[in-house]
Amino acid sequence: MTQTENTAIVLRYANYRDNDRMVTLFSPSRGRIDAAIRNCRKPRSHNLNAGELFALGDYMLHENGGRATVTSVHLIETFYPLRQDYERMTCGTYLLNLCDAVLEPEQERQELFMLLLHTLSRLAFSDQPWRPLLAGFLLHFAGCEGFKPRLQHCVLCGKRMGEEGPFFFDQEEGGLCCGECEERKRRAGKGGREKAEAVTAQQVRWMREALQGGASSWVDRPDSCAPFALLRRYTEKRLGGRIRSSALLPGE
Ligand SMILES: [Zn+2]
Repeated sequence: MTQTENTAIVLRYANYRDNDRMVTLFSPSRGRIDAAIRNCRKPRSHNLNAGELFALGDYMLHENGGRATVTSVHLIETFYPLRQDYERMTCGTYLLNLCDAVLEPEQERQELFMLLLHTLSRLAFSDQPWRPLLAGFLLHFAGCEGFKPRLQHCVLCGKRMGEEGPFFFDQEEGGLCCGECEERKRRAGKGGREKAEAVTAQQVRWMREALQGGASSWVDRPDSCAPFALLRRYTEKRLGGRIRSSALLPGE
């Protein structure tokens, strides 16, 4: 039996028995940790808030043969304003679900963890519109997961893509393609291959600048031209299916 202290945020929970809860924690140094919290659903429990979604804290764990139990928690942040705004809570839950879909146990994930905290903070404590916030998250999430879209050269012929366009986005190849390649692909159009979709020069500039700025700077320049819907389809396809809370996000 070992006792460990882990800074982590709650991604998911499931209730069991009368008062207990299993939580999936995201630790920047250890990735995914599944742990039980006993009696956290009793009204006067010390751990009442520690098992809620978005709860960020230092979790003391008893670990024994792959089983972990939370013994105490020092809460750092609950992102409480998310609970008062259904739309922004749905957005936050979507971010948790995306992380949950890619995390493995005993895997260091500092960059993704910081990206999640930055984005949740903006969702909870700023009035920045959620679409560009989520678009920026998705772009950097793709980078963390190894499928960052290619934005400088055509993914089909390798030609350098300047500032002018026309620009198309090829979901299968993961990046921009030029007008000639888009036309060739569309004419070939057989075997169910997906067409590339048009993106505007402003959207391309937004994505390039958001990626250049690094994971903490893009949040300061939200912009209505951020291609949220495109990045959402791209990411969810790469993850092999829809993320459950995606269906709850407001229309595009
Ligand atoms: Zn091309």
